[in-house]
Amino acid sequence: MKYPDKNGHFGEFGGRFLPETLIALHDELEGVFKSALKDPQFKKEFQYYLNEYAGRPTKLYYAERLSQRLKTLKVYLKREDLLHTGAHKINNTLGQILLAKRMGKTRIIAETGAGQHGVATATAAALMGLECVIYMGEEDTRRQSLNVFRMKLLGAQVVPVTSGSRTLKDAMNEAIRDWVTNVDKTFYIIGSVAGAHPYPLIVREFQAVIGREARRQFLKAENKLPNYLIACVGGGSNAMGLFHAFYKDKSVKMIGVEAAGHGLNTVEHSAPLAKGKIGVLHGSKSDLLQTEDGQIQVAHSVAAGLDYPGVGPEHSFYKKSGRAEYVAVEDREAIKGLKLLSETEGIIPALETAHVFAYLPKLARKLKRQQSIIVCLSGRGDKDMEQIKELI
Ligand SMILES: *Cc1c(COP(=O)(O)O)cnc(C)c1O
Repeated sequence: MKYPDKNGHFGEFGGRFLPETLIALHDELEGVFKSALKDPQFKKEFQYYLNEYAGRPTKLYYAERLSQRLKTLKVYLKREDLLHTGAHKINNTLGQILLAKRMGKTRIIAETGAGQHGVATATAAALMGLECVIYMGEEDTRRQSLNVFRMKLLGAQVVPVTSGSRTLKDAMNEAIRDWVTNVDKTFYIIGSVAGAHPYPLIVREFQAVIGREARRQFLKAENKLPNYLIACVGGGSNAMGLFHAFYKDKSVKMIGVEAAGHGLNTVEHSAPLAKGKIGVLHGSKSDLLQTEDGQIQVAHSVAAGLDYPGVGPEHSFYKKSGRAEYVAVEDREAIKGLKLLSETEGIIPALETAHVFAYLPKLARKLKRQQSIIVCLSGRGDKDMEQIKELI
């Protein structure tokens, strides 16, 4: 069985819960995406920008001192933090911008929460010389003013959204409204493995380069497959990017780390897989943070990139089928994880990625014999310096 099925379902999750007006747009996008995947010219061009512009392939680095510290874990780091713009998000925006060009679109729109996806989109749009409009909750434009400045420097227009909670989910609604109105020339770039079919599939395919490279690199280094894979989960794109190439390798265990914020027994966290209920958000069915009467619960995490009330449907499917395990790490633990990697390896991770390093010692304590693990080092910490200074 291949996932998703032709209607975009991952088991009971995913799909396309959309008004009539949006169905045709998603159908057209799906058609273009499928033809692009079969076109060697498209693949060649995508690979060209991944390699020459973004800096792929990224290294799979053996973290020797971290491994010594953890004793039972031999850790390899997949260095997505070394990509242009400092995180994995550029893999996806380069892929989608090439789809936009293929469709003859001249205008790019996107939603952004923390601003990381907005910056990666504005970067790709500048590279291709396309007009770019980024929707961002007004609340977020204030919290992430430096990223607003970056997007503007890159030539994008940033539109503050004043509806609802003035955060990511409202920005996403506004972007969809723009798309419907200006569909002739506009392409909508979604930033994670979320949204209606075919977006979760598109983003997974464009991020799957992470796992394909890592699998090849690990086999070359160790002449076997790893015991574990681990990645942080916001919407779930860096995790799915790493996991996907290992889906059929049944011996390889997968762990996704959600943000437990102030604690899983509070309402201030971003852990829909641990504490959510199944529901529909942005056209797709998955685990979601909801209030008792079914409204979307505002998410919280110290890491802005993990601060999303939903999660990609394929992760809900992996969880339900048992293919992957999901754990959650609190804000204050994440800071410890950040220090652990910084002090043992001289690499300061993004606050999102720091959640993974907070979980590694817990996993290490459970193991009797040494096991190998690949960590998706999704991004670098430079963007978080101001915030970390306040927290430490
Ligand atoms: C955005 C972001 C994430 C979370 O997004 P996913 O779609 O879950 O990968 C994780 N790490 C970094 C560095 C990010 O910028």
